[in-house]
Amino acid sequence: MKKGNATFRSTWHDEDRKSQWGIASWFFHLLNIDPIPPNFEVPVHAKTDKMPYVSEMDLHRWILPRALVPFAIHCGLYYYGGIQLHPLAAFALYTVWFKLFGVMLLQMLRAVSQQCGFLDGTHPRDGVPDQSINKVLMSLISTSTYRPMMAIMLAYDRNQAPHISFPWILAYIGLYNVALDFYFFHYHKAMHEVPWLWKFHSTHHKTKHPNPALTLFADEVQEVFDIAIIPLCAYLTMRALTSFDFCASFNFYDWWLCQMYQMFTELAGHSGCRLYATSPSSFGLLPKLGLDIVIEDHDLHHRQGYRKSGNYGKQSRVWDHVFGTTIPREECIPSQMETKKQPIPW
Ligand SMILES: [Zn+2]
Ligand SMILES: [Zn+2]
Repeated sequence: MKKGNATFRSTWHDEDRKSQWGIASWFFHLLNIDPIPPNFEVPVHAKTDKMPYVSEMDLHRWILPRALVPFAIHCGLYYYGGIQLHPLAAFALYTVWFKLFGVMLLQMLRAVSQQCGFLDGTHPRDGVPDQSINKVLMSLISTSTYRPMMAIMLAYDRNQAPHISFPWILAYIGLYNVALDFYFFHYHKAMHEVPWLWKFHSTHHKTKHPNPALTLFADEVQEVFDIAIIPLCAYLTMRALTSFDFCASFNFYDWWLCQMYQMFTELAGHSGCRLYATSPSSFGLLPKLGLDIVIEDHDLHHRQGYRKSGNYGKQSRVWDHVFGTTIPREECIPSQMETKKQPIPW
């Protein structure tokens, strides 16, 4: 398929340039996570073509077993080995798994896009740009390091037995992501609409047709907010909301699961996959209320996003509906949804 716009010229992966590869190129190549590798062929659809849907249950089946792996290891060490993990050891366990989860997600999204094509399919999709490959790599490494690090520093207690607040966690995952989106919505909207703030967001908008590796590709100030400050605000909100006696207090392990769902929606939202797929973090509630986000919503934000835009939420469209900033969907409309279910490669 054709590569995207000139700023996002992506030729580094071509075989005849192998002798020039640096660490970042080898990283993407060896982990097999280049979202648009050389000779990547995808079906091209008109905007009016039917599109398959993804069952929300299939998304939970993909996310949950993977998200629970470090927790299961942690429980094994604690309950059977009698080991209370030192915070540094816990950080190592969770940060490694955060990265592996991201690698598996990038590979899965590429496999799905190869089957169903991209939204706005007649326009080329941007790759990992030649001129910014190091920056893209650093954004992925920073996110997958600093988010678990912050969770360990703020919420981890080695003396506390590892446990997830079941069944409260089902509500917490949805609430966390709506709370996160509240802060993200306002700061994101401000960066678009307040003239002197646009410079902090313009790099993220250089791509009009993003891929999931560009999810955290942004100016440094935006990276700090995306990676740490917005999740921190959501965490503090959840601590306040769960401080009552009748419910379980939001703990490190709850936060971990919330972060896995957050990452899933963030990367899928930048994948451009031509699929009717909703964010699974509300366990079906937001889709029933018509407030959920689908892949096309953030894709449209990139395509139409400049100083004045819409679809500012990244985890839902709750706040876009409240503040009247939704962008009408073009391809993910009920009349174009096929009865065919798109399987998610496990
Ligand atoms: Zn984006
Ligand atoms: Zn934006």
